Amino acid sequence: MYVSVLGEHFHRARLNPAMTHLDSASAGRSSNAVIGTISAHLWREAERGSYVAADDRADELARDTRDLASLIGHTADEITFRESARAALRALLTGWSLPVSSTVWVAKNEFGPNLVEFDRRGYSVRPLPDGDVYGHVDVDALENMLQFEQPDFIHICHVGSMSGVVQPVPRIVEVAHAARVPVVVDMAQSVGHVPTVTGADVVYGTSRKWLTGPRGVGFLAVRRDSLRSVDIDSSEAFLAGRLGLGVAVAELQQVGQQRVYRELAAIGRATRERLDGIGSWEILEPADEPSALVTLGPPPGWQSSDVHAARDRLFEEVGILVTAADSWRAPLAGDQTVLRISGHLDVQREDLDRLADALRTMGY
Ligand SMILES: *Cc1c(COP(=O)(O)O)cnc(C)c1O
Repeated sequence: MYVSVLGEHFHRARLNPAMTHLDSASAGRSSNAVIGTISAHLWREAERGSYVAADDRADELARDTRDLASLIGHTADEITFRESARAALRALLTGWSLPVSSTVWVAKNEFGPNLVEFDRRGYSVRPLPDGDVYGHVDVDALENMLQFEQPDFIHICHVGSMSGVVQPVPRIVEVAHAARVPVVVDMAQSVGHVPTVTGADVVYGTSRKWLTGPRGVGFLAVRRDSLRSVDIDSSEAFLAGRLGLGVAVAELQQVGQQRVYRELAAIGRATRERLDGIGSWEILEPADEPSALVTLGPPPGWQSSDVHAARDRLFEEVGILVTAADSWRAPLAGDQTVLRISGHLDVQREDLDRLADALRTMGY
């Protein structure tokens, strides 16, 4: 039995998975229509020549870009594509007219590789205070800080890579803009998952996770009226992949994005409620956090390698795919390795029961 009323629809649009796939935070499973669109375009490129094939699809590509833009609260002409979220961030930092020794404020859930990009450019990074034990940014404290000091920009992972916490981005943008500080949002884990119209100056993300588009397609959107100018050229593109992403976005919009966000939040809640109190594992988000990304802290005394072994046993013996997420993903949040469970709309009650049973035997 599906947890969500949208489960059957999501399931029927795809191949049967070879295992229970609870790993959309790594990469979601694309629909048959997405795969069909990508392969059809690759065939067309061979048949007609790649540039002619692209011209043939110009209207479709333009519409797809408008659809993606509306999903993230930008306009189509503000979007450019790269092969990944990280490449999008690099393009931004290269094209942005930032001072030499810039200061950036980040939340505690900041993605480790983003910190590497900041560090490599000599930025000074300051973590924002948490408002609670889960790691939500304390927006009132931020508002206070901004009265005394303004960073060159604030960078927020809307949803991080090892926590289902959804940062209050619209409120952060509001207080930052009042202090004339631009906000950049990493939407790699939030687009297609939670509402992503935030008012931020710059946003970027990837096709392959919650949108269930193909790998190898990332996007970057910079408001034309943003608080700092950016000069970003376009680059060679995986057009078949962009068409595939276009189909994935269209599928989301056909079902209704708000409905999908609500259902994913309900899946997150059902997952947390089902796994709460199993063995000595600890759920690291509030039960009703509006996301489907769920993390479990291991029983006391477990090493990182034990969590990896648990992940491997779940995959090999129980047929459930999840991630053992190491602390490099969010180094400011601590040094724990956690089990990350990120089922999409096709999660079934029985999947959660099997996961709970398996974790109980592993988690004394
Ligand atoms: C996956 C992820 C990224 C990186 O995305 P790529 O497309 O692999 O570069 C960035 N930030 C967060 C929060 C992520 O989860």
